[in-house]
Amino acid sequence: QNHYDVLIIGAGPIGMACAIEAQKANLSYVIVEKGALVNSLFNYPVFMTFFSTSQKLEIGRVPFVTISPKPNRNEAVEYYRRVAEKFELNIHLFETVNQVVKNEQGVFEITTSKTIYTSGNVIVATGFYDVPLLMNVPGEDLPKVTHYYKDPHLYAFQNVVVVGANNSGVDAALETYRKGANVTMVVRSGELGPHVKYWVRPDIQNRIKEGEIKALFNSELLEIREGEVDVKTPDGLMTIPNDFVIAMTGYQPDFSMLRKFGIDLPESLCPFYNEETMETNVKGLYLAGVVCGGLDTHKLFIENSRVHAEMIVKNIVS
Ligand code: FAD
Repeated sequence: QNHYDVLIIGAGPIGMACAIEAQKANLSYVIVEKGALVNSLFNYPVFMTFFSTSQKLEIGRVPFVTISPKPNRNEAVEYYRRVAEKFELNIHLFETVNQVVKNEQGVFEITTSKTIYTSGNVIVATGFYDVPLLMNVPGEDLPKVTHYYKDPHLYAFQNVVVVGANNSGVDAALETYRKGANVTMVVRSGELGPHVKYWVRPDIQNRIKEGEIKALFNSELLEIREGEVDVKTPDGLMTIPNDFVIAMTGYQPDFSMLRKFGIDLPESLCPFYNEETMETNVKGLYLAGVVCGGLDTHKLFIENSRVHAEMIVKNIVS
């Protein structure tokens, strides 16, 4: 049957936490996920280390045991897979939710790429990793440009431009430099990002100081062409040879999807929800996880948004 008490969109850590709470409360539920289990984490760089300690990534009170205090991407993917297995979570993978509407009886009809479900409640836990913030410069659509850096080996002995100097940019610059790439960072502001992991910051500072990684601060990429890029710097326009551009310019939630579901989005683009219940302006439609932060993607992470699961299920059963 295709009717549930709760339908959860997204099998990220927080969507999974919601499913565990729903299960504990004896609610029927399904998670519908457009990709693999924990799809965002699956798509992180292969050598990425979390800034959170493993304890802070735990859900469902299942211990996340790691030897080092900060787990890496591979350990986290394995942990969440084991949690899904332990709770025998009901998850439908590789199925995209396209529309959520409430019918005249007050029941949600959820249209996916495979079927139509009905549900009393819907939780949107879709994160922010699917829509990159674009630079909007000519050449951004060339195949040598990526917004999803994965593995440094690809860039060995190549001329690489890394755009941005937050965690993702800094990690990509250091990793590709260590695989023999000739790396130039193009950074819009005058310094490294304020959230750069404290144990990584001295490493990147020293590589820049030694001239091993070039950093152009207060600079912007103007155009990307097959073999070179133009950069606007405080000293004027520079054209540098280039094989690959790694654009670590950030991500944003899929606002058009939230609007389509009927969720109020003020000008700030911070979606509307009740902070005690996580319910949106549509009764029975909830937001959970990092999607709630809107454009402010540094405000919420796993540690401080896993609590949404309990808040939502408590409200549903009340
Ligand atoms: P996500 O994990 O993003 O899950 C959302 C899921 O929804 C995805 O699997 C997606 O495929 C699915 N989805 C989206 N749209 C649809 C649709 N229409 N239909 C079906 N499924 C859909 N946070 C931390 O707490 N600690 C860290 O150390 C940390 N490091 C990070 C490093 C990087 C490089 C990045 C990008 C983020 C990091 N974060 C970290 C933030 C982290 O991504 C989130 O905290 C975590 O993934 C949030 O979980 P979530 O369940 O809210 O969203």
